[in-house]
Parts: sequence; C-alpha cells; structure tokens
Amino acid sequence: AKESGRGCYRRFEPEMERRLRVRQSLEADLRGALGRGEFELHYQPIVSLTTPPEVCFEALLRWRRPGRDLVPPGSFISVLEETGLIAPVGAWALRTACADAAGWPASVRVAVNVSPAQFRSGTLVAEVEAALAESRLPAARLDLEITEAAILTDDAAILATLHRLRASGIRVALDDFGTGYSSLSYLRHFPLDKLKIDRSFVVGLDSSHASASIVRAIVTLARSLGLVSIAEGVETPEQLHHLRRLGCDEIQGHLFAAPRPNEEVPAMLRRIHEY
Ligand code: C2E
Ligand code: CA
Ligand code: CA
Ligand code: CA
Repeated sequence: AKESGRGCYRRFEPEMERRLRVRQSLEADLRGALGRGEFELHYQPIVSLTTPPEVCFEALLRWRRPGRDLVPPGSFISVLEETGLIAPVGAWALRTACADAAGWPASVRVAVNVSPAQFRSGTLVAEVEAALAESRLPAARLDLEITEAAILTDDAAILATLHRLRASGIRVALDDFGTGYSSLSYLRHFPLDKLKIDRSFVVGLDSSHASASIVRAIVTLARSLGLVSIAEGVETPEQLHHLRRLGCDEIQGHLFAAPRPNEEVPAMLRRIHEY
C-alpha cells in the first residue's frame, strides 16, 4: 500500500506542479496587464423586440496576452477576483465603456459587468460618478450588470448602493438569472430594472420542454415585478421565435452579433436596423 501510495504521488506531482506553474505565470502576467494596456473591451448588442428596436451594447473584457490568441474572461476573471486585481480592472472597464459609449448615437446604451467584490467595495458609486463625469455620458445611458453574489446578503449598504445608482438614472440588471443558489426573496428586497436569463436556459429552448417552461416562468416573473427580461446566448431564428412568443423583451446573442471591438459598433448598428 505504501508502495502504491508513493507511486501515485510520483505520478501526480508533475501534473500538480505544472498546474501551479501555469497559474503562477497567469497571475504574474495579469499583474502587469492593465499597466501595459493589454485589456480590451468588446461590445455585443442587446436588441429590444420592439419596432424600431432599442439597442444596448454589453462591454465584455478581453486580454491581449502577448504571444497568445485573444483571451476571453472565463480563464482569468476568477484570478482577478482572488488577487484583488478586479478593483483596478473593473474601474478601468467602467471608464473605458463610458468613454466609448459617449461616441455612439445618443439612443444607444452601454451595459457594464460589475463583479461582486467591486459592487460591495463601497467605492462603486464614486467610480461610476467619475466615469460618467469624465466621459460626459448621461447616467440614463448606463446599465450595470450584477450577479446574485453581489446582493446575497441583504444589508443596508447594498440597498443604499442600489438606491444611489438608480436615483442617478442608471439601470441595474441581474445577470445569469436562474443559475444561483439563493431564494427569490431578494427580488422583493432589492430595486432592480432587468433580469437576464442565463444562456443555459436559452440553449434548450428548441428541444427541451423544461427549458421553455423555465424561460416562460422567468419572463412572467419579470413582467409581474415590472422588470425588463433579456435572453442571452440567442443563436438561432427558432430560439428568437420562441422568445418572441414567450414575451421576452430583449435579445442578445450570436444571432445578431458576437462581441466585437468598438470600431465595429457602427457596422453592427447598421445591420441591426436592416434585420
Ligand atoms: P456574461 O455576463 O453572462 O456574458 C455573456 C457571455 O456569453 C459572454 O462571454 C458572451 O461572449 C457570451 N455569448 C453571448 N452570446 C452568445 C451566443 O450566442 N453563444 C455563445 N456560445 N456565447 C454567447 P464572455 O465574453 O466570454 O464573458 C464571460 C463572462 O465573463 C461574462 O458572462 C461575465 O460574467 C464575465 N465578464 C466579462 N466582462 C467582464 C467585466 O468587464 N467585468 C466583470 N466583472 N466580469 C466580466
Ligand atoms: Ca490596448
Ligand atoms: Ca453580463
Ligand atoms: Ca451568463
């Protein structure tokens, strides 16, 4: 038993060491990435199912890591959060998104993702005010997307942050709705404007009766609470058809456009209005 134990240890050590090294080099590279200007925001349209459509672009973080393909946030957001780097990167994303949006037509909004740590930091309201003042973007053109983890505990500070943001005209969307663990009671406690239905429910719309029921329930819930419903990850005309029939308000996904750099926003707007 002792022998096989050592055998196991010998076999797994190199793999564990390799993973540790990958993680350490990721962290080391991330620490300097903001200063070296390696982060970018790409923009993906969110389109209302009204005529004419209203358009918002969600800002999505990308990392131009030297010597690699453009890195999507799935592989590094958690490292930013664990290291506290999410604070400066999040503040940079807010300023950059507001500055970019200030150059778009006045009817077009921008949505910025806010991590739970950033939301709970106590400095978010000041950061948002600075980003709006610097860019001269009206607050009414800014949405913030937060997740359940940001509002899990119902303390007075969270409620005050939401009230202050919304009083200035900013709208707040609850992201990844339906994937969390908590009860729905926070929907009563917290002032919100939008619910984003997670892509995992949209994917099943064509084939799964259960997914369609869940989406219908979320759309109905949103409507009865006076919230706008948004479906993310819409890829097919069939999914669009289902969502329209279920009364979903807004659509986001590769069907309209994948996230693209700011330079391509005008072309995306033209295509949406021709759609
Ligand atoms: P999310 O907020 O749920 O964003 C939607 C994700 O779905 C994006 O992934 C987007 O590219 C992807 N997506 C959109 N439409 C489709 C589609 O039709 N099909 C498929 N397969 N995927 C689609 P992305 O850009 O990789 O971002 C992943 C997550 O990283 C985001 O999920 C968000 O939680 C986080 N994130 C991105 N940017 C930021 C940021 O600036 N700050 C913070 N705190 N988090 C961010
Ligand atoms: Ca750059
Ligand atoms: Ca989002
Ligand atoms: Ca999602």
